[in-house]
Amino acid sequence: MSIAEKEKKVVTLAFGCQMSERDADTLTEISSQQGYTPSQDLAEADLIIINTCCVRESAENKILGKIGELKRLKEHNPNLKIAVSGCMVQQPGALERLRKRAPHVDIWAGTHNIHEFKRLLEEAEQKGKVAEVWDKPKETHESVPLAEKGKLKAFVNISYGCDNFCTYCIVPHVRGRERSREPEEIINEIKELVKSGCREVTLLGQNVNSYGQDLERTYDFADLLQAVDEIEGLWRIRFTTSHPKDLSDKLIETIAKGEHICEHIHLPFQAGSNEILRRMNRKYTREYYLSRIARIQELIPGVSLTTDIIVGFPGETEEDFEQTLELVRQVRYSQAFTFMYSKRSGTPAAQMPDQIPLDIKKHRLQRLIEVQNSQSLAWRQAMVGKTYEILVEGPSKANPNRLTGRTRGNELVVFPGEDSLIGHLVQVKIEDANSYTLFGTCEEDKFLKEC
Ligand code: SAM
Ligand code: SF4
Repeated sequence: MSIAEKEKKVVTLAFGCQMSERDADTLTEISSQQGYTPSQDLAEADLIIINTCCVRESAENKILGKIGELKRLKEHNPNLKIAVSGCMVQQPGALERLRKRAPHVDIWAGTHNIHEFKRLLEEAEQKGKVAEVWDKPKETHESVPLAEKGKLKAFVNISYGCDNFCTYCIVPHVRGRERSREPEEIINEIKELVKSGCREVTLLGQNVNSYGQDLERTYDFADLLQAVDEIEGLWRIRFTTSHPKDLSDKLIETIAKGEHICEHIHLPFQAGSNEILRRMNRKYTREYYLSRIARIQELIPGVSLTTDIIVGFPGETEEDFEQTLELVRQVRYSQAFTFMYSKRSGTPAAQMPDQIPLDIKKHRLQRLIEVQNSQSLAWRQAMVGKTYEILVEGPSKANPNRLTGRTRGNELVVFPGEDSLIGHLVQVKIEDANSYTLFGTCEEDKFLKEC
């Protein structure tokens, strides 16, 4: 291969939620179709794509730092193209500010036009810099290529956007109103994935369990889960994120009955005090949330529950915060994602009085993490001595001589084993645990399924 024909490389970096990761995969796939080979090495890249997040200020600062670092690479390789896409770019009025701050970026795209990336890339290659951010989505991205093909585990979007308008959250402002994909499109996509070797899908939406409310027919998330459960060759179904207000009995019963639907529900509660929940516009009370948890635990014994929690929302008193700690102790989550409230301009909470000082927010976060860590440890220690079904994903990042995989409850497990187990369902006996990881041994005679 001559220098002129040198293979072009693309490196994609995703910040934020699974939705952002899924979009980043789509952008990589579009670039591959344009002749770029995916790579991890920034130094050899001809195209670097950064798919951004703006849910918290800390994420934005990290991304701006990363974009700044890339300037140096461009000085070494003037042909390098840098593309920045996603939520941060989509924020009202952000584009001009970002362009001034990072003039070395070649392509700017919002959340609503990532499926136009092929054209944007061609324009940047031929004419130079391009920036395009649509105010509104024009379609539900059905034409986006199947980025997840060939992977053991895949994300599948079932809906886009969010109608909930929690007062702290920027997502509805950058991802638009909720749009559900047609069930047939989703089922066909999953069947294609299964044909290509995929064994686990995670159905993605900002609010998966309000799926279908905007469809012309009567069809809800429980109906979709049941249809996905019937797809032959699929071993595991996960879904995220569920909103407590839309968690119907029908849905809990469907999860309980489903053969391949994993016994794991991510159910953010955000705050334990009714006054804070009201100010957050979460549309449920602490009592309602706990009644849903009780119903889940009754119908799905051993279910693994995870959650998102925000500390230091405007006006949060010590008593309000104590109610959050109390709820965490009561539910016994296997894991929690804990955040300090971050002021997002354009959201109602940013204008609320009684913003909480940073040192108090930090202290509350620390106390919450301590409580949750002890809960996570107790949850995992209770698994020691028992045997679980694990989907083997590959070598452990922390210890490449060990394999890693997840239980149906989504707990991470590390164990010794041959590479030939990767992609299989195996039985692993748990022997030790810390707050984040289980350690075990594989019972190879109880090898369950092969790809
Ligand atoms: N739609 C999902 C839901 O309602 O649970 C999750 C969306 S959001 C990307 C993920 C989490 O980020 C939220 O559950 C919330 O805990 C957190 N979050 C959102 N906005 C935040 C803010 N302004 N400050 C701190 N955390 C925030
Ligand atoms: Fe944000 Fe609330 Fe929608 Fe989740 S449900 S994306 S937190 S507005």
